[in-house]
Amino acid sequence: MKYKIQEKSQCRWCEGITKQGIGPIKRPNWNRWQCCNCGAIGYNDLPSEEELNELYLNAWVENDTSDRFATGSTDLGISRSLLKSVQFNHDGRCLDYGGGTGQLASVLVEFGCVDVYVFEPYGNNPGLSISWVKDLRVLDGEKFDWIFMTEVIEHITDPVAELAKVYNLLSDHGALVITTPNSLGWRARIERFRWRESQNPTHINLFSEVALKKCLSEAGFSNIKRCYQPVQYKASGLKRFLLSITQVLGVDGGLRIIAKR
Ligand SMILES: [Zn+2]
Repeated sequence: MKYKIQEKSQCRWCEGITKQGIGPIKRPNWNRWQCCNCGAIGYNDLPSEEELNELYLNAWVENDTSDRFATGSTDLGISRSLLKSVQFNHDGRCLDYGGGTGQLASVLVEFGCVDVYVFEPYGNNPGLSISWVKDLRVLDGEKFDWIFMTEVIEHITDPVAELAKVYNLLSDHGALVITTPNSLGWRARIERFRWRESQNPTHINLFSEVALKKCLSEAGFSNIKRCYQPVQYKASGLKRFLLSITQVLGVDGGLRIIAKR
């Protein structure tokens, strides 16, 4: 494994001091650390590819709603709202990197985009007029104006290496949009290692804004901004209003980052 914290007491991203904590209930031996400085959360030892495959396979096969973590939850409404909040201009060549079941791609098509690609080895094109790519090598030398990674980066064992590949796929004026859980959101601050996202064993890294910016700059990105514009998730009434406030304040459960080259 390329990525391993140098010492168990040091943060991978800011080299701050960490505290040790429990692993997910489903994998109690996979102990975690959290940085006292930047708030990032990681595993002491990276799970092997076999261990992760087993986890994903069981999540798909077992008819257990607690294992929803493998199937994702970005639906059409969230996708539309996300595109508005990042001021998506409905133009250019788009790539949804880790596109899951194609929800975001279908909204891109709905918004009038005619040049849409999805990279997703585990899924299939649900019948959209887009290009569905299962092997990233097919995209060698291609450039995109918009690349989306929604709820993907937290699952990746070597995020810097993965983002470096994405960097090479981005056009000179292109934008990468990343969404991922926020390890310094209000719920994470209260629940710490018991936080739902930390309890999901497939979440290798949980980022704070500082940690994700560090990760992106290690991968080559230089123009990195956080988006505070509210995105409408599945909430209504007062709940929706309160969620919008936490989003504007930056203490909600999700990070939305726009990175350019
Ligand atoms: Zn740190």
